[in-house]
Amino acid sequence: MITTKSEREIKLMREAGRIVALAHQEVQTLIKPGVSTKQLDGLIESVIIKHGATPSFKGYGGFPAASCTSINHVLVHGIPDDTKLKAGDIISVDIGANYKGYHGDSAWTYAVGEVSEDIKRLLTVSEASLFEGLKYAKANNRLYDISHAIGEYVMRHGYSVPLEYTGHGIGSSLHEEPAVPNVGIPNTGIVLKAGMTLAVEPMVHMGKPFTKVLADDWTVITLDKSLAAHFEHTIVITETGYEILTAL
Ligand code: MG
Ligand code: MG
Repeated sequence: MITTKSEREIKLMREAGRIVALAHQEVQTLIKPGVSTKQLDGLIESVIIKHGATPSFKGYGGFPAASCTSINHVLVHGIPDDTKLKAGDIISVDIGANYKGYHGDSAWTYAVGEVSEDIKRLLTVSEASLFEGLKYAKANNRLYDISHAIGEYVMRHGYSVPLEYTGHGIGSSLHEEPAVPNVGIPNTGIVLKAGMTLAVEPMVHMGKPFTKVLADDWTVITLDKSLAAHFEHTIVITETGYEILTAL
């Protein structure tokens, strides 16, 4: 079932989203060579708890940490551990917070130290693809208008998107209907309504779109080991467009 949220629910999601954004803001200051993904996760969890929320991901389906930390060719769901960041790496950090029963979810890919021009382009295009999709986030548009805009933008720049991972509805559950794919046919899919809350999240491969899940049953990598980026915001659809909930 696809729900529209009440003003009261959106208020709680705005606060959940603000806490996620604060965790991103703080963790960015720690992203440098020599720091472990476990250290990043510790900081993220402490920021979430300090603001009266709980990490949405911890315990979700048995996930062991507060955040997903996915380095280089890891697309999503990397588990924080003792792996240390190196200069030239990229790391996707995905953070969810549950505030009084409502969730915010946002991912961002960060450069570690100085990165190559090729990597800078991947990050710029991937981030821009999120906002290309959001141009179509508006009441009375159709859901796959967003998907189409993301996919077209990514592919026009020579990259690919995996088909098996998508964005999603979000609210009192971390993952709700509908799925929000990163490719689609324009003018199809459900009609968007004011009050729908969605996590829109382009995942972008520098190489081919295929993925593989590692033996830990979580870590998703690109099959060709090409670099991957991930940018996500939680939004609410409005009559005139959208509001980003996971921003400060
Ligand atoms: Mg996420
Ligand atoms: Mg998500």
